[in-house]
Amino acid sequence: TQLIKPRIREILSRELPEGLVELLPKHWVQIGDVLILPLRPELEPYKGRIAEVYAQVIGVKTVLRKGRISGEFRETNYEVLYGGDTVTVHVENRIKYKLDVARIMFSPANVKERVRMAKVAKPGELVVDMFAGIGHLSLPMAVHGGARVIAIEKSPYTFQFLVENIELNRVQDRMTAYNMDNRDFPGENIADRILMGYVVTTHEFIPKALQIAKDEAVIHYHNTVPERLMPAEPFETFRRIAREHGYEAEKLNELIIKRYAPGVWHVVVDVRVFKN
Ligand code: SAM
Repeated sequence: TQLIKPRIREILSRELPEGLVELLPKHWVQIGDVLILPLRPELEPYKGRIAEVYAQVIGVKTVLRKGRISGEFRETNYEVLYGGDTVTVHVENRIKYKLDVARIMFSPANVKERVRMAKVAKPGELVVDMFAGIGHLSLPMAVHGGARVIAIEKSPYTFQFLVENIELNRVQDRMTAYNMDNRDFPGENIADRILMGYVVTTHEFIPKALQIAKDEAVIHYHNTVPERLMPAEPFETFRRIAREHGYEAEKLNELIIKRYAPGVWHVVVDVRVFKN
């Protein structure tokens, strides 16, 4: 990697107008054999050629332009700059994640959490992942933790990859996927552990999580929080809603995942809940 940037600069300095070489992206994300490149507007007229050079020097099949993640399904909408095939298999922590990088998020900043989840799960316990995605957080629990997992994903497109990933990682015997809104999931009083890997409106799903939880359970509760409300939030809101539903809540641990927006952080709190 030390040699990649000078090589790219060397090739493009012969082709780009003066001054633009300095604006070339110095950081990028590689997921499987797809590259996500943040590109300054000044480079717009040259984006195709720039992407081609990055692809060839780094050795990837497709280059996407980094954009926003939005909507209920937390979808990416990344422009294809080079290549065309945006489906890839990314290997991390000995887990295979197949996904369409142009449409489905896979955040490198969440790697610590994916690795941590592989360690907290225990063999035999039942985990319900309420926002499964492609199995980002629950595949590690099934593969490395030996947990039994129920993974719920609402987006039909993302769901297809979740099902494929369960097979790719050979955990069909202990991981089952449901393509539905988690609020329609019928299970009650079943989970030892619940994953709530979502942001912005996660608190709206706390009553449903408590319904799925056993009388005593651990919930990995993610949400986005304005910095001025930390560290009281997001736990205070969780505890208030839990008490309204007959549960007591105890904070076990709290971690910052990443910056979500200026002054707003994506945080995860491990909460032990128990019925009063
Ligand atoms: N949990 C993963 C992580 O933290 O890396 C990523 C999951 S992604 C941010 C959230 C997923 O939840 C999306 O795939 C979205 O489609 C799904 N989702 C959103 N609302 C849902 C709902 N009500 N029921 C089930 N899945 C939902």
